[in-house]
Amino acid sequence: MKTTVNIIGSGFSSLASACYLAKAGYEVTIFEKNKTIGGRARQLQTQGFTFDIGPTWYWMPDVFERFFSDFNKKPSDYYTLEKLNPAYSVYFGKDDFITIEDTLEKIIIAFEKEEPGSSKKLKTFIEQAKHNYDIAIKDLVYNPGVSPLELITPATIKKINQFFSTIKKDVRKSFKNDRLVKILEFPVLFLGAKPSDTPSFYSFMNYADFGLGTFHPKKGMYQVILAIEKLAKSLGVIIKTENSVDRIIVNNKKAIGIESKGTKYYSDVVVSGADYHHTETLLDKSLRQYTESYWQKKTFAPSSLLFYVGFDKKLKNVNHHTLFFDVDFDVHAKAIYDHPKWPENPLFYASFPSITDEHVAPEGKEAGIFLIPLAPGLEDTPELRATYFNKIIKRFEELTSQNVKDHVIFKESFCINDFIKDYNSYKGNAYGMANTLLQTAFLRPKLKSKKVDNLFFTGQLTVPGPGVPPSLISGKLVADLVTKHHKLLV
Ligand SMILES: Cc1cc2nc3c(=O)[nH]c(=O)nc-3n(C[C@H](O)[C@H](O)[C@H](O)COP(=O)(O)OP(=O)(O)OC[C@H]3O[C@@H](n4cnc5c(N)ncnc54)[C@H](O)[C@@H]3O)c2cc1C
Repeated sequence: MKTTVNIIGSGFSSLASACYLAKAGYEVTIFEKNKTIGGRARQLQTQGFTFDIGPTWYWMPDVFERFFSDFNKKPSDYYTLEKLNPAYSVYFGKDDFITIEDTLEKIIIAFEKEEPGSSKKLKTFIEQAKHNYDIAIKDLVYNPGVSPLELITPATIKKINQFFSTIKKDVRKSFKNDRLVKILEFPVLFLGAKPSDTPSFYSFMNYADFGLGTFHPKKGMYQVILAIEKLAKSLGVIIKTENSVDRIIVNNKKAIGIESKGTKYYSDVVVSGADYHHTETLLDKSLRQYTESYWQKKTFAPSSLLFYVGFDKKLKNVNHHTLFFDVDFDVHAKAIYDHPKWPENPLFYASFPSITDEHVAPEGKEAGIFLIPLAPGLEDTPELRATYFNKIIKRFEELTSQNVKDHVIFKESFCINDFIKDYNSYKGNAYGMANTLLQTAFLRPKLKSKKVDNLFFTGQLTVPGPGVPPSLISGKLVADLVTKHHKLLV
């Protein structure tokens, strides 16, 4: 009889852990509450348009390669990856934008044009960022977050001051031009916290941005979910959709299975890739490791208001990824982190994947995704969504000098209430818990329960943190812990 593992959820982290555990010889079953797999990375298909509901930026291709190579596969065995050029553009005012191209050499030229003398500083900044990337990816992020000693290596000791300074300070030390500052602070937004709360060491995200580049899987990010599903199934993983887990069954402080739709499914191990806070609510209170007040004190990554829009024409003056940083981010950031409320003048992000990918919209039409970052836990009503749609579309029209409102075929929205309803997300957060200094590595919620044996956690609320590449890594880390703590029954 094989050792059995029940996995809750089918996001990137759950799917990745399923593959590693199946490869190690476990019998793995995934239970997903929704109709389709993928979690936050699901896909919306309507009227000939295809939208990624969640992640749209494919960064750190090396992490995806490493994942597939652990199974003697390559990303190209499953999907076609294209390096975007330009990677993205950033609007600062009407018809006023900076374009970030696909190589560091070209980006250096753009910086020099914007602020004479900045090219040399950028080279130094990115060299440092690359060094941090090498340390992070080689030495740090593949650690299970069990002990502070994981952070202490000959390479990190030399960088200790970078854990106590911030990205904001570092960027502003070298760059005076406000527009360049905003561009260099943008990548850390993926980590979920303000640049003033993100340790300088995380400048490795700048290397991911400028050094490695931005990629797009043809037909969208969902292709990566489909790829991992295919891999998982080839390894024998069983996936049960529309099977919400209502309870983790515990006997004598040992997880012995899960209950879904009134049926008990027993297993030797339970792994959950559902939001950590939600998973613990599937246990008796006495078996939860973290209290409500623990979660309340944590810095969560923002939630988002998203719109998926079909346009009846091709749009101009925008790129596949376009950022609208024409308003004061510090004011918007306060509305996310300090005094949670709907921002008066939000910055926003828009993606038009059909500019580079003919598969995602009918010919002559454009697929548009708009995202406004918001504080988790805010009131979310249809009226607020409509107000903010009008607000950003008006600004979009002014900034890019075109009429689009009269060209909307349909629009769908997704916001805090949907994050809660669809994913059991804590306060409707979009991408988990932020990577601040006090929420890094061993200071994050643990991969292994301290109170219930054979219960493990994975995903963006535990180590290493938010984002698709970290979720893949999290899946590997939890599988390694399971295999270490729970020897195969043979
Ligand atoms: C709008 C948005 C944009 C983003 N953009 C990017 C980006 O551009 N690039 C990037 O790298 N990352 C991005 N991210 C982050 C990235 O998508 C996430 O970090 C990653 O997908 C999280 O994967 P996960 O496995 O941790 O969790 P999830 O994807 O949330 O998976 C958890 C799964 O558990 C299921 N579940 C919950 N409760 C239960 C239950 N009781 N029973 C059964 N199943 C349950 C959920 O339905 C879900 O399928 C974005 C996220 C969002 C939301």
